[in-house]
Amino acid sequence: MRISDILAAKQTFSFEIFPPKGELPLEHAHEVANSLAECKPDWISVTFSAGGSGNSANTFAIGRDIERDLGVNALVHLTCMGSTTAEVDANLRKIVDDGVSNVLALRGDRRPGVQTVDFAYASDLISHIKATTPELCVGAACYPEGHVECEDLDRSLDHLYLKQEAGADFLVSQLFFSNDDFYRFRELCLRRRVKLPIVAGIMPFTSVAQIQRMAFTCGASIPSKVVKRLVAAGDDKDAQAQAGLEYAIEQVEDLAANGVDGIHIYSMNRPEIGHATYEALVACGYLGA
Ligand code: FAD
Repeated sequence: MRISDILAAKQTFSFEIFPPKGELPLEHAHEVANSLAECKPDWISVTFSAGGSGNSANTFAIGRDIERDLGVNALVHLTCMGSTTAEVDANLRKIVDDGVSNVLALRGDRRPGVQTVDFAYASDLISHIKATTPELCVGAACYPEGHVECEDLDRSLDHLYLKQEAGADFLVSQLFFSNDDFYRFRELCLRRRVKLPIVAGIMPFTSVAQIQRMAFTCGASIPSKVVKRLVAAGDDKDAQAQAGLEYAIEQVEDLAANGVDGIHIYSMNRPEIGHATYEALVACGYLGA
């Protein structure tokens, strides 16, 4: 089913997973997706490494199995940095042949040695998909605090508008730790005529080191209330992760109370994160039991 149709009908709940890294077998992704499917998500998205590096070879197989074996909608990510038009077209054909209807069109993270080839920006990829493969529903990334490479939020919103003009059907946000940033962004989008549904992306922080990495890679700011909770957790790694999960649950409860289009959990291949957020959203009435 097209995600744009689901978003037109209801508020959504979804998860993101990534293909197994290192020595982990492909079956690991199936186990994670299988467990997350118990939470009846509207879709599960699967990441794709930029420039064909890393573990992206398994992205489409995992998406296909989520649709075929679990009966859950898959959203496969596709990056274009470093890709030729022929490579992109081969990937689009594969997605369609696998029976997947939804793709998240991205430029991709910058990686050493990967240069722009045929697509400079995600909006170029979105236009190309719409022109060549109109049967696909196309999502795009958005950044409540502005994209980390962009000088300011205002310019980032100009670039977001280009994604809408290129034909994107919906948006999924970068993670954020202050819901107020998301609400302000939502208002600014409306003022800038970005009218697409915006799904809010939430990632529980797991440690001091991880949240610091996030702040640098995604430009997400860390509010003092998060710092205070991490200070209270001290050096205890389990207490840091527990503080992150509790904080994420408070964020999703607040998002649910503020009428968001959808809530997307960056579940980091840890089904317990998916289950904990699902239970909180059932308890507050955002999701049916
Ligand atoms: P773009 O929209 O192309 O933006 C890239 C930069 O160019 C931004 O600074 C933007 O402001 C600027 N820009 C855009 N258009 C123009 C223009 N016309 N002129 C000048 N500047 C412009 N990365 C992965 O590698 N794999 C994944 O699976 C993945 N999944 C993601 C899922 C979500 C929900 C999100 C939010 C991000 C994800 N990322 C992933 C990270 C993403 O690839 C990076 O944030 C990347 O740096 C930007 O991707 P984009 O698609 O937003 O790019």
